Amino acid sequence: MAKVLCVLYDDPIGGHPASYPRDTIPTISGYPGGQTAPTPQGIDFTPGEMLGSVSGELGLRRFLEERGHTLVVTSDKEGPDSVFDRELPDADIVISQPFWPAYLTAERMERAANLKLVVTAGIGSDHTDLSAAIGKGVSVAEVTYSNSISVAEHVVMMILSLVRNYLPSNQVAREGGWAIADCSQRAYDVEGMQVGTVAAGRIGLAVLRRMHPFDVGLHYFDRHRLPAEVERELNLTFHGSVASMVGVCDVVTINCPLHPETENLFDERLIASMKRGAYIVNTARGKIVDRDAIVRALESGHLAGYAGDVWYPQPAPADHPWRTMPNHGMTPHTSGTTLSAQARYAAGTREILEAFFDGTPIREEYLIVDGGKLAGAGAHSYSAK
Ligand code: NDP
Repeated sequence: MAKVLCVLYDDPIGGHPASYPRDTIPTISGYPGGQTAPTPQGIDFTPGEMLGSVSGELGLRRFLEERGHTLVVTSDKEGPDSVFDRELPDADIVISQPFWPAYLTAERMERAANLKLVVTAGIGSDHTDLSAAIGKGVSVAEVTYSNSISVAEHVVMMILSLVRNYLPSNQVAREGGWAIADCSQRAYDVEGMQVGTVAAGRIGLAVLRRMHPFDVGLHYFDRHRLPAEVERELNLTFHGSVASMVGVCDVVTINCPLHPETENLFDERLIASMKRGAYIVNTARGKIVDRDAIVRALESGHLAGYAGDVWYPQPAPADHPWRTMPNHGMTPHTSGTTLSAQARYAAGTREILEAFFDGTPIREEYLIVDGGKLAGAGAHSYSAK
């Protein structure tokens, strides 16, 4: 019987919600490109309820305990005395979400002698040392596509919010004011701007599709080029390098995975090569940009705004400089954990566990590492070193 160690974010401050703003969520059965939404044999939760926090348990307890497995759920994940570290040595499976990642370093993996499977409930497995997983024969899987559209919607919201100066204007309204010039002195229309994405995978392409109706010029850089008909349909300009793209863009959104090739990609030099007054929206991973270079560029006015929901480390400390830098529109890591997204990635996590316990193959598109090498989606988008 397996021990499943699940690290989830804390419940809301007021406790697990007793009610929700809406009674139902739309049923999404498939994604662009034809992949179906998760198809577990069953679920023990009501879609639309809070599943991603400790009391929600990703809706897994009944399923696991009926099969005789043990489920340990905690939010306590940092430091040698954390519940996570104490429970890790005999865990067979570790599950966590990128919003509250259980950092599975090589050192931690060394101490997890029984570990066989690491599941990201969501997308993005960079909190797991993939080289160590490959070396130890541990499988890594994530619920590919489960929250890609959720994130794309967040990106569009943040682009509009920064360019149109929404958050400071909302603050004026909340504070009883009517200071229109204060609101409009940093407000522009998005129409006619040049908008580029670093990577045009599931999220990047969904952002391009959603920005197309705003009558902007659309640009992208990716390792693989999109089909010619997609480039034509969206009138996309492909760039052979990130540097070439960011030099012509008013808005740059980052939608590539964090791996050794992309870590610190937006360093001082690349940021300096951007147009004065450009905006960056990064919902991919905090470490893709140089934290302090972003602060300096906002302070000098070289960047007009920065927004995103990804930080390093997570949770970000209270004194993280991004909390207080000028003209930012940061949120905690929330874009991919709407109640809508939670229903999909909880179902996908269950689907992965069912396959693992039944000895049937985990969907190829969910695999990141398997059989001692990058596999499935991981072989496509990640690099081991
Ligand atoms: P996909 O795998 O669909 O797309 C990733 C794209 O990035 C692929 O097209 C890949 O290219 C491309 N890519 C890889 N390396 C590079 C590189 N060095 N330069 C440019 N492009 C590169 O992933 P998603 O779109 O679903 O997600 C993207 C990332 O967003 C995730 O890895 C995760 O970090 C983040 N994310 C954030 C969430 C949040 O809540 N904020 C939730 C979900 C994801 P190719 O196909 O050519 O290999």
